[in-house]
Amino acid sequence: MNYLKCVSCNITYSTSEVRYRCDCGEILEVKITDWNKLKKNLNKKIFDDRLSSKEFPYQSGVWRYKELVLPVSDKYIITKSEGNTNLYSGLNNNKGFQKITSFVGLQNLHLKHEGENPTGSFKDRGMTVGITQAKVLGVKAVACASTGNTSSSLASYAAAAGLKCFVFLPKGKITTSKLSQSIAYGAVNIQLDGDFDAVMKTVQKVCNEYKIYLLNSINPFRIEGQKTIIFELLQQLDWQIPDWIVLPGGNLGNTSAIGKGLFELKKLGIINKLPRIAIIQAEGANPFYLSFKTGFKKKFEVRARTVASAIRIGNPVSFIKAKKIIEGTNGVVEQVSDQDILDAKAVIDASGIGCEPASAATVAGIKKLVGKKIIKKDHQVAGILTGHILKDPEITLNYHLKKLSGYNSRYANSIFETNTRTISREIRDFLDD
Ligand SMILES: *Cc1c(COP(=O)(O)O)cnc(C)c1O
Repeated sequence: MNYLKCVSCNITYSTSEVRYRCDCGEILEVKITDWNKLKKNLNKKIFDDRLSSKEFPYQSGVWRYKELVLPVSDKYIITKSEGNTNLYSGLNNNKGFQKITSFVGLQNLHLKHEGENPTGSFKDRGMTVGITQAKVLGVKAVACASTGNTSSSLASYAAAAGLKCFVFLPKGKITTSKLSQSIAYGAVNIQLDGDFDAVMKTVQKVCNEYKIYLLNSINPFRIEGQKTIIFELLQQLDWQIPDWIVLPGGNLGNTSAIGKGLFELKKLGIINKLPRIAIIQAEGANPFYLSFKTGFKKKFEVRARTVASAIRIGNPVSFIKAKKIIEGTNGVVEQVSDQDILDAKAVIDASGIGCEPASAATVAGIKKLVGKKIIKKDHQVAGILTGHILKDPEITLNYHLKKLSGYNSRYANSIFETNTRTISREIRDFLDD
């Protein structure tokens, strides 16, 4: 039986208990027990065979790796065939992608688009597992605090599972595209004053008081699902290990997940070396970056301000887990400005791929690290695009309308109104351009 272990003081708990924190106050992680059995039963070929399987639940890009994710009876599994997201590159005639490679100054680049999950972000990989665990535990209701993607994902999976769902949102700080999504999926939406960090505190209290199952990334089962981003990515690369994996960091749950996934693949012998991990934060929401700069001797808390709503987090819950990942992969933490994020987003969008602002931090960060020669020009780099282009549409539109005050719309595309009399002249201008 797998068990839960405190990330700090090593006390253990049973997975059949509803628990998010150790008695010492730190968070928990799932530990796999039966490594010998897994080593005997799992190998690359099994995962490759399951790629073409029509058998439930292996068509899911999460449950394909079920033994490493959550070894439960199939009768509990709530899945929407999440995962199976594209790994983009400049190969196979993709001209648009060349805009990105020349922007970052690196040829050997892959971008895995987690925005292609059912509700528009990688959160679905964590939620299919978190909601399945909720079924195993037999809870009646689930909840989360969210900057948008977590709430949409939870609302959708709760609907699939037939569970009551409450989402707690910082009032006035949620994009309409996401608020409308979670309302539509049938969640009870509760807007509270304060920022994400304040709402997170409230939801933990409410969940304890009313015995509601909390599905933020503090929940260790979410992390188990999100590990499959790296499983799938490496499988798509035929299990070749790139030099770098790059992703944005907010609450640092995903950092923890990707690192944990890598350590476990190595322990199983499925891979024999580790890539370096680079975590990118926004300058205005950079507590992990500040801490990295002190060699993790100090921990920071900031008042988070950035256009990238999904990483607008000042006091990351998974700090200790993420620190171990950076230390264990010879990783780095970098910060980028909102202007860098907006420019990178415009280039990714114009490539025909597109992503939300937080995801563009990945590409902005790769460009910055190439500029600093920390990532070398001949390195192979795989970046994660975490969310969909339709998140934060106000920012996208205002960038192209040159209406984002304080920012330069360097890569703005054309948008204008005209009438039928002059339209032919304008089209000709564009064709000749
Ligand atoms: C949640 C989220 C992040 C941040 O992930 P953490 O696990 O909080 O570090 C980044 N991008 C998108 C699109 C997200 O939804």
